[in-house]
Amino acid sequence: MNGLAQAQLSGWGRFPRLDCRVIDPNGTEDVPATIAAAASLIAFGNGRAYGDAALNPAGTLLLGRCSRVIDFDPASGQLTCEAGTLLADILETFLPRGWFPPVTPGTKFVTVGGMIAADVHGKNHHLAGSFGAHLDWLDLALADGRVLRCSPQENTEIFAATCGGMGLTGVILRASFRLLPVETRLIRQETLRAGSLDAAMALFEESHGWTYSVAWIDCLSGGAALGRSILTRGEHATAADVPDRPSPIAPVRRRTLRVPVDFPSIALNRWSVRAFNALYYQRNRTGVRLIDLEPFFYPLDALLEWNRIYGASGLFQYQCVLPLAASRAGLRLLLDRIAASGAGSFLSVLKRFGPSLASPSAGLLSFPLEGYTLALDFRATQANLRLAEELDAIVAAHGGRLYLAKDARMGPAMLDGYEALDRFRAVRAAVDPNGKFASSQSRRLGL
Ligand SMILES: Cc1cc2nc3c(=O)[nH]c(=O)nc-3n(C[C@H](O)[C@H](O)[C@H](O)COP(=O)(O)OP(=O)(O)OC[C@H]3O[C@@H](n4cnc5c(N)ncnc54)[C@H](O)[C@@H]3O)c2cc1C
Repeated sequence: MNGLAQAQLSGWGRFPRLDCRVIDPNGTEDVPATIAAAASLIAFGNGRAYGDAALNPAGTLLLGRCSRVIDFDPASGQLTCEAGTLLADILETFLPRGWFPPVTPGTKFVTVGGMIAADVHGKNHHLAGSFGAHLDWLDLALADGRVLRCSPQENTEIFAATCGGMGLTGVILRASFRLLPVETRLIRQETLRAGSLDAAMALFEESHGWTYSVAWIDCLSGGAALGRSILTRGEHATAADVPDRPSPIAPVRRRTLRVPVDFPSIALNRWSVRAFNALYYQRNRTGVRLIDLEPFFYPLDALLEWNRIYGASGLFQYQCVLPLAASRAGLRLLLDRIAASGAGSFLSVLKRFGPSLASPSAGLLSFPLEGYTLALDFRATQANLRLAEELDAIVAAHGGRLYLAKDARMGPAMLDGYEALDRFRAVRAAVDPNGKFASSQSRRLGL
């Protein structure tokens, strides 16, 4: 029996919040018939997309009870699981056995279905590509309730439209991919300071051989210090790196804190963020050290509901990518504009993406593009929404695009940055001619 209810839902940014008819199937077996019976719906994984990609007022399909591990091969690391499985649960179960996901986003509170639908990238994108590149297959429930196995070899075009397709081709039921063997739960991390955007980009270029790299960027510094950053790069530590630790893969107890209330809007202003950024830049310890992989990959997960720091009006994240040749000039303009507005937050990230895979199964609406990606959080105010439109013009003029998983506000013109959009639309027209799968985002964008 499927649960049905009306509830106010939002993505991680808590902007927008929509009243949705929620459908809560008992398990994966119930999903195809539920889809066939519905007039309009979208899959909801764990709500970590920032905006309205997983929201449909007419039907939002929860996948929390579709979360079983189906098979695991301890020799190869091959994992087959239902799409509602949380990455946090995969880590809890398989990390102590020496396995880690091939690609991970900056939070572990995402589902496997959400990772596929957004074709997520991690700090290793320059070498490993996005999550879809590591998938062996997925099972997709279509609008008429049929279930189709899709892979780089089978139903290739539907596979390519589903990886990064934001739930618009169907509901992913199951997926299979290989975990990476790791010897410890530690990362050998090196932290470096870069006094300007040029210095940060030079550090990224010289860090190409490192498995993981990412930079925190001070979005409020200007002049010669425009784009000053703290770059961290890392490798999985081997057992030989930690000879004194008897069980370097054993689980550790980690404290989490919860933000108890919405912060007042005054708490996050240009002065507090500027002061925080200056301190963070100066005080951050540079050099090499071993750190647990949870704070390395998921620094914000220790502070549950940190999105409440942005106050009751919520936040939106602005994440763009610019092609390599246009990155320096475009980033400079973006950072200039943001620094002048004084509106950025302390959570600003710069990352170098590697080349996109030229494979026919590569995600048609996947976000990554070889070049630099910049991600910043903004409080959801009218002034910041207007600022985002100015940033859109810079991104478009430099041939870049915005990440759908972070979007809550862009207009349809920004989809021009996705060069395989026509191929995506053709698949959608073939598998879902009546547009049953729709989100508030897809309607806003005319996707
Ligand atoms: C703190 C934080 C850090 C993040 N860091 C990164 C990062 O480093 N890299 C990155 O790429 N992303 C990052 N993200 C974004 C996040 O990884 C994606 O938005 C991801 O899709 C969220 O997964 P979810 O399970 O919560 O999906 P939801 O937010 O519930 O849904 C996201 C999209 O996936 C679709 N979907 C979900 N499940 C299914 C399914 N079973 N079948 C079909 N479609 C489905 C939904 O319809 C929706 O379009 C971050 C988000 C947060 C909050």
